[in-house]
Amino acid sequence: MTVESRFKKALAYGLLQSGVFSLSRPHFEKRRAILLVYHRINDAKDPYFPALSRTIFAAQLDYLAGRYLVQSYDDVVAWLAEGADGAPRVAVTIDDGYPDTLEVALPELERRALPATLFLSTQPPETGRPLWTDRVRWIVKYARTNMGDESARLTRLSQILARLKALGQAQVDQAVAELEAELRPEGPDLRLLSWDDVRELQRRGISLGAHTHRHYMVSRLDDATLADEIGQSVRLIEQRVGVEVKSFAYPNGQPEDYDARAIAVLRSLGLRSAATCRHGLARPGNDPFQLPRLYTREPSLPLFAARLAGFGREERPASSVS
Ligand SMILES: [Zn+2]
Repeated sequence: MTVESRFKKALAYGLLQSGVFSLSRPHFEKRRAILLVYHRINDAKDPYFPALSRTIFAAQLDYLAGRYLVQSYDDVVAWLAEGADGAPRVAVTIDDGYPDTLEVALPELERRALPATLFLSTQPPETGRPLWTDRVRWIVKYARTNMGDESARLTRLSQILARLKALGQAQVDQAVAELEAELRPEGPDLRLLSWDDVRELQRRGISLGAHTHRHYMVSRLDDATLADEIGQSVRLIEQRVGVEVKSFAYPNGQPEDYDARAIAVLRSLGLRSAATCRHGLARPGNDPFQLPRLYTREPSLPLFAARLAGFGREERPASSVS
């Protein structure tokens, strides 16, 4: 840990203990929404599939439940559109759709009676095949060719993911096939969320938004594939679960990962908003189709609290989101 981050942590801890995050709220937290983004939440400690631990997730939920009004993403977006009067509101959003959303996140949310929203990529439940990003993680984890030790594999993995995120659908598919031929992986199939699981999540209080069908970065897609990837995910959720989809989250969600064409498709489908992974608090004047969210892979509760209160940088590099 650097001296600077030690200092920030100590400062945040001191602020948390002092109660300033609660007492001064009316002065600096008005008219803003906190949209939190989560991905995997589990205790597998698998470096190929990084996750937030259940303990940290639970501590973050306790903090939220004690201090904020937590609502579904669509409700918070509607409140923003009406001018966002009063204390800040929070939405918990979880991207992609993994078994741990049902097995770990849901029980912790239920225990505190907190709602959340899942932005689901529909390929895994619909076809039984994992998203390409997870396929790449699986290939590198179970490669049988000599790739060096674990740290060499993980370095190679992050390089591959970074390279592929800049490509379109055909090139990604080709690169994944070539990687599989080169690394000859052999391992147990990845566990995926099924439609029954998604329906159970919805029954137990998780609202649903779309996140494309196959999780390509939409700005890299041609017009037809772009419309199909977004449209299919919205249609499948509505058909398989029987709920209206009002919102969307861009895969990877950095400014270079979405564009005006994607926003036009979302509007044409009647959707009301879209979430990015640009790091920041949402305010009433924001474009509802480019809402920032706060990233949550932060083991320090004081730093988490500080981010919620609006301290710290609002933009983050694109390295680890998906
Ligand atoms: Zn995603």
